[in-house]
Amino acid sequence: MSEEPVLFGGFAHESNTFATDSTTRTDFSVHEGSEIPETFRGTNSVAGGVCATADREDLDVAWTYLARAEPGPVLSSDAFEHHAGRLVAAVETHADSVDGVVLSLHGAMATDTLDDAEGELLGRVRDVLGPDVPVAVTLDLHANVSEAMVERADALVAYRTYPHVDVGETGERATRLLAETMRGDLDPTTRLERPPVLPMGPLQNTRDGPMAEVMARARDLESRPNVRLVNVLPGYHMADSPVMGFSVPVLADDDPAAAREAARDLAAFVWERRESFVADLPGPEEGVRRARELVAEGATADGPVVLADTGDNPGGGTAADGTTVLRAMLDQGVTNAGFAIVRDPAVVAECAAAGVGERLTVDLGGKTDDAHGEPVRDLTGYVAAIADGRVENTGPMLTGIVREFGRTVRLQCGRDESVTVLVTENRVQPYDAEVFRHVGVAPERLDVVAVKSNNHYRADYEPMASHVLPLDTIGLRPPDPRTPTFERVRRPVFPIDAMADGDYPDW
Ligand SMILES: [Zn+2]
Repeated sequence: MSEEPVLFGGFAHESNTFATDSTTRTDFSVHEGSEIPETFRGTNSVAGGVCATADREDLDVAWTYLARAEPGPVLSSDAFEHHAGRLVAAVETHADSVDGVVLSLHGAMATDTLDDAEGELLGRVRDVLGPDVPVAVTLDLHANVSEAMVERADALVAYRTYPHVDVGETGERATRLLAETMRGDLDPTTRLERPPVLPMGPLQNTRDGPMAEVMARARDLESRPNVRLVNVLPGYHMADSPVMGFSVPVLADDDPAAAREAARDLAAFVWERRESFVADLPGPEEGVRRARELVAEGATADGPVVLADTGDNPGGGTAADGTTVLRAMLDQGVTNAGFAIVRDPAVVAECAAAGVGERLTVDLGGKTDDAHGEPVRDLTGYVAAIADGRVENTGPMLTGIVREFGRTVRLQCGRDESVTVLVTENRVQPYDAEVFRHVGVAPERLDVVAVKSNNHYRADYEPMASHVLPLDTIGLRPPDPRTPTFERVRRPVFPIDAMADGDYPDW
């Protein structure tokens, strides 16, 4: 073995092809070389998991280049070429001295010219490494997996949870599989199956319901001879592209037939449950009305009612300035409530100019595009606090990672000024409740908490909540895959298309 047998790098983005504008090179935060273990060691992240496994297995790692950005519009070609170029150059530098590579990717990155940016990236990595150096790739559960990705990587290793609380474990799993492959103890081969099913976002929750059953089935299949890894990826449906969709890449040890059979069995299991991946969710007015009823019934003695503004989830590439749920809360006179977040840098600036302890009247939110509702006009509020918005996750998801909301204002408004709105400069998914504590609010003491999140909020908020209500709201990450207008996805696919029992499987 060489002195630094494992190379680690990454380039991750979830690209919403329905969002306007593009994601540019400066939207990415970059860590290079020794900054990577210094920043991520001990955190629940892929790099943190690679650190932990390397320490345990006494593997030296060449830490190279890691670029990540909040989900958003497709990358400009400039952004892709810049970061892919830096990463591939780093791999090339070490190509002769490493015995294996771990790459932290998302799997749903697209550019203004590429549907399958990871497939392209892995092709370039493979070109400089040659065919013999094994490459293990970690993927978000929301990857849209292509045949090119399967061919060009030796192992695809996806998160198994949604909320993604196993990100560190995924890094560990990938590093262990890579080490086994480097030692010659594993000959990985992968087969991909694609059930034509698009589960609604909130029903991809792996803690409960049909997705929990699917994940349990995947774990069962891993006890079959030679089957090592049954990945289950329900897809990121805000990508109007032929690679979008549910995928089941299964990795077996030198046994393609076993991989194919397990992939087919899992895909058929998903297909049989397709109807259970669709539900009617309440809209904002109905959801807030239910929350008020629960408060009136005394339910909040056990904790707040948590409402999820799923359509405007910045973790799915949205504007994070949607107003429909906030407007319903204000119109219905909800009290002792919190709302995270409204991204509105102009209002942050107005509040900062007014100062803490002052009252002002603003037009809040609804300014980025026409997909997230109108601004809440002439909203009078009290500036209770302004903080720097550097918030370290304390909940189960990506624990220890610091997230940058930008300057964050605690604006008290609504009835009795008892609705706390967190107004931020940046688009960041508020899945960790620490953002409330950051401005002096204890979220567990509120009666109603609304968060812009699809399902990740469950990790930190569900334990404190008396009830959790995902809402069907407008925005660029609608929970229902029937909402967007697709032109380029593979059809037919359920539930966009009516499909009968016999329409799948087709083997
Ligand atoms: Zn995800």
